[in-house]
Amino acid sequence: MLNSLSSALLLSLLQQPGALMPSSIAPRPATPEREPLHLYAVGDLNLGRAVTWDYLLKGDSLYPFQALRDTLASADITFGNLESPIAEAGHRYEKTGSFVFSTPPVAADALSWAGFDIVSNANNHAWDAGIDGLVETITQLDRVGVAHVGTGVSLDLAHRAAIIERKGWRVAFLAATRAFNAAPDSFYTHPGSRYVAWADSGWLYPEIRRLKANGLADLVVVSTHAGTEFAEEPDHGLRRFFKGAIDAGADICLGHHPHVLQPVEWYRGKPIVYSMGNFIFRQGAPWTGLSGVFEFTVRPGSAISLALRPVRAGYQAKLVRGAAADSVRRRVGLPRAATAPISRGP
Ligand SMILES: [Zn+2]
Repeated sequence: MLNSLSSALLLSLLQQPGALMPSSIAPRPATPEREPLHLYAVGDLNLGRAVTWDYLLKGDSLYPFQALRDTLASADITFGNLESPIAEAGHRYEKTGSFVFSTPPVAADALSWAGFDIVSNANNHAWDAGIDGLVETITQLDRVGVAHVGTGVSLDLAHRAAIIERKGWRVAFLAATRAFNAAPDSFYTHPGSRYVAWADSGWLYPEIRRLKANGLADLVVVSTHAGTEFAEEPDHGLRRFFKGAIDAGADICLGHHPHVLQPVEWYRGKPIVYSMGNFIFRQGAPWTGLSGVFEFTVRPGSAISLALRPVRAGYQAKLVRGAAADSVRRRVGLPRAATAPISRGP
């Protein structure tokens, strides 16, 4: 069943059993069914560090995503976590050795060219270029037509879902963070708390319910920047948070921040990716360079399947095969012989 969705390189990994209903007993729909929706997601996009930064400052918007552009652009919707704010031309960009990130306006063109439809801005670096950078990021993404979620010029806007419509599906994205470098222990006392969505179930769960109950979205995707950096397993609090989001009506949960891949879990038939790892981000430890494109397919009835395309993260993301690809699959908790999809239901 997944063969029609997968290239020879793409390994089908997980599938919800609800999608396996024999066609002989499937009710014939009265109206034409929606086509399957292909939603791709990747982890941290740091466009504010050399070498990526050098190419962007020279005006080269093609470098970081060149090797994966065809893959990313082939999805109906492609999502990523934008870890580096976009700062206005003339901003004093910090470079190597700093943990304060920002990237020039051409980064927005790079995201658009690569096929990104939407990014989350809610992460620990959202305030790295201050309020000016937060606003400039939104301005530049609007300029190139890439949707964004998780920050805004008011808290209401930061909490507002971005709804993208494709093939008759209305997909609502909500994004929030549980890490914030400008005030790591006291987010709510920092001015950024008026512009950045915090991953607080007090507003997030009711908003998911509202989107579903009012028929505003067919699917709700929750992105959360949280977890322990470099940890191979999610902590108990994050597991509870994402499962609560699914209980409230979320369909796909996307985690990021640990810089490494963590296992995928299915809960009530919905996928939770606790950490998608890095994508455009170069760090020292070898396991921070293992990543993937998470390729979700949603069918009518909201049956969701997931395939993973192994990638090496860095200044420029690249496809990998062989032992590195095996390691990617192992870290996400998937079998080595991935030609036989495993079923994991609720
Ligand atoms: Zn982070």
